[in-house]
Amino acid sequence: MSASPLYDVIIVGMGPAGASAAYELSLAGLSVLGLEKQTHPRYKVCGGGLSARIEKILPSDFKDVIEDTVYRMIFSYGPEESYCVESPKPMAYMVMRSRFDQWLVEKAQQAGTDVHEDEPARTFTKLPDGIEVRTARSRYHGRVVIGADGALSTVAQQLFSERRLQKIPALESEVFSDSSRHHGYANTALISLNAAKKGYGWIFPKQQGLSIGVGEFVRGMNRPKRSFQQFSREEPTLAGLQIPLPLGHPIPVFNRSPGVTNERWNNGLVHGRALLVGDAGHLVDPLLGEGIYYAVRSGQLAGASIVHALKNSSPDFDEYERAVINEFGREFQIASRLGRLVYGVPRSWHRWVGKTFPGPYQGVLQRYCAMLQGQETYQTLWARIMSGLRRPFVRRS
Ligand SMILES: Cc1cc2nc3c(=O)[nH]c(=O)nc-3n(C[C@H](O)[C@H](O)[C@H](O)COP(=O)(O)OP(=O)(O)OC[C@H]3O[C@@H](n4cnc5c(N)ncnc54)[C@H](O)[C@@H]3O)c2cc1C
Repeated sequence: MSASPLYDVIIVGMGPAGASAAYELSLAGLSVLGLEKQTHPRYKVCGGGLSARIEKILPSDFKDVIEDTVYRMIFSYGPEESYCVESPKPMAYMVMRSRFDQWLVEKAQQAGTDVHEDEPARTFTKLPDGIEVRTARSRYHGRVVIGADGALSTVAQQLFSERRLQKIPALESEVFSDSSRHHGYANTALISLNAAKKGYGWIFPKQQGLSIGVGEFVRGMNRPKRSFQQFSREEPTLAGLQIPLPLGHPIPVFNRSPGVTNERWNNGLVHGRALLVGDAGHLVDPLLGEGIYYAVRSGQLAGASIVHALKNSSPDFDEYERAVINEFGREFQIASRLGRLVYGVPRSWHRWVGKTFPGPYQGVLQRYCAMLQGQETYQTLWARIMSGLRRPFVRRS
């Protein structure tokens, strides 16, 4: 085994979280090593839906790797009940993760990150002035280590051993189809609330076909394979398509218990000189399982905090955790509350509420889409729902 080269930061995993952190750190002039288990471009089980607000945090040429732009979202509960929200502005961008992630990694490399592919990190040893990372090929010394190695993070398992968090199962299949703009899904995404018992199914448009999947969001109610088969069979717009068997991967959604305090993000994102970003830190929206936006943003926040901390003789990396709490804490708590409402009684929510109060229901869906565009937040959405509920009880003067 060779001697141990020294880096300011070693990043384990070069998905959206790791590559975004690497880009930020390399731009600031730090020496960065990115270790990646696979070789880009690689397939990643993922719907590849980016909420449109991501354009505020990505370099503008990300549009080079977009497969389709969504201006229309259909929320359905079976064929009869569907609600459509349209906008002249993009609500979401669709990517294939192989292209998108490779683009992000190339950005980091151009900024100066040293990327070693096909080299998984295996063990981590805490040292007084950093962490030693061992792979099958070598060992490396980082002043700081970022765990960006996804839902099954080795960094989290070895360096944050007290973590007990929630992962929900999800399945995804890619249908390659040349039928006229893929069964009418050009610029259109479908969210089906009856596709899974306590979750949802999606159909997302891509350049050469459709991404189809299901996610189950409540523990103990998980039968994703059955849900996927049923969704593929019963969703009328999929009739006649040959849908390949789906692949599965857990989604590590934000867990409301024990919750976020002003000081700590669940069981912590910082431990000494190790930081967790993206899925490794369970930074996934618990309502719809959106994780790419939070992976990119947490990578950027970690990068900025490390640049700041390493300027001090006794660096404090907790600033990163405070930044995450500040940006996502309240948002995820409300998303979790909405998730309990929507998945607790999905049928009543969509069918009864939708039929009884069609205007306000459509309004909530519209505001949800405005949130994807960055014009609303979960906090403003919740405040509007609450004031709408209170209105009938307020006495008119
Ligand atoms: C079925 C499904 C559908 C989804 N759909 C969407 C969607 O439409 N929109 C959305 O926003 N989110 C979606 N998500 C969530 C999204 O995929 C994740 O939140 C996102 O990939 C997180 O990015 P990340 O960089 O944290 O982790 P990852 O993308 O998982 O990247 C981790 C990287 O680390 C590497 N790695 C792992 N272990 C090691 C190791 N020991 N050493 C070195 N490298 C290692 C992996 O090879 C990988 O490249 C979906 C997830 C699933 C499962």
